[in-house]
Amino acid sequence: MRYETIPTTCSYCGCGCEVLLQVLDGELIGVLPSKASPINEGSLCIKGWNLHEFVVSERRLRKPMLRKGGSLVETSWEEALDEVAGRLAKIKSESGPDSIAALSSAKCTNEENYLMQRFVRAAIGTNNVDHCARL
Ligand code: SF4
Repeated sequence: MRYETIPTTCSYCGCGCEVLLQVLDGELIGVLPSKASPINEGSLCIKGWNLHEFVVSERRLRKPMLRKGGSLVETSWEEALDEVAGRLAKIKSESGPDSIAALSSAKCTNEENYLMQRFVRAAIGTNNVDHCARL
């Protein structure tokens, strides 16, 4: 049996509480607060204590889905990305960049959220971007 803790930052809001992910035999099993953190000093709110749950959830989407004939069906990343790129390009050319907005997720990493806002600003050409932890 191998138990380890991995330090990281809670992704649910901008407070930036430090957490220790509990990993048992390679499986994420829980979260502990970091006592050494000057931000949270060994405390977490209820969201932080349950930070690991979305990672291991059975309901988590693991493959892209595309609506075909009124139903969502599993598809490849290539087809999904081509579909999204085609639709965004069409909307932008027909209605302008400010007709597009993006909402990113606290369940993504900070790096992924940074890339989302860069994509929206630099590739789409709008400042219509927000993050669910700020709502
Ligand atoms: S533990 Fe709670 S307060 Fe701390 S960063 Fe996460 S959501 Fe925010």
